Amino acid sequence: MIQAKHINKSYNDLQVLKGIDLTINTAEVVSIVGPSGAGKTTLLQILGTLDKADKNPQTQLLIKGENVALLNDKALAKFRNNHIGFIFQFHQLFPEFTALENVCIPAFIKNTSKTQAETEAKKLLDYLGLSHRYHHKPNELSGGEQQRVAVARALINNPSLIFADEPSGNLDSESAESLHQLFFKLRDEFGQTFVIVTHNKALADMADRKLTMVDGNFQI
Ligand code: ADP
Repeated sequence: MIQAKHINKSYNDLQVLKGIDLTINTAEVVSIVGPSGAGKTTLLQILGTLDKADKNPQTQLLIKGENVALLNDKALAKFRNNHIGFIFQFHQLFPEFTALENVCIPAFIKNTSKTQAETEAKKLLDYLGLSHRYHHKPNELSGGEQQRVAVARALINNPSLIFADEPSGNLDSESAESLHQLFFKLRDEFGQTFVIVTHNKALADMADRKLTMVDGNFQI
């Protein structure tokens, strides 16, 4: 699913990623842990094509066999919207839109019709136990519900790859636990691949593979 070779990233004099090599298989759940400042979010942003690695002849990033470095901005945005879902610590839902409208947005960007997008969004919201919350705005939902809406939004275009950055960092332990179970259920039912940056030890340990980052690379 992902083949990353020699990923470097520097901000001015600060080298944040130091030659990362990583292969992630389809339907694998990989957790990334490590101290704050180790470079976890930076790596996730690069693997998720939201940011670019430093140019280097040894660097390569293949996602679903596509060499994403060769795509122009427009093609990359399309690739991302079709194949990749993101879940962040702070759900980043639009406050003025309802749950249903928030979930539909990535489908609208893909030019899916309103009827089809809403049908699919309702299916996801039902699956996530939010049938009674279609028309609520984010501030009328609990933290756990908001995060599940964000998960539905991440899933609407049926991405094969999902990146989560501290997805349960802002949730109480019960909501966190049910969100974690959900990731594994999705993987088991739909074969999705997850890369999750987390400080939550239980979630990190549940993963098929736990990678520890220290100072810009993986600890062996
Ligand atoms: P982690 O997710 O492991 O806490 P980050 O990837 O967020 O680590 O950050 C790694 C290092 O890169 C930190 O020292 C951070 O300050 C620095 N950094 C991250 N993004 C930027 C940026 N846009 N500009 C400058 N420095 C950055």
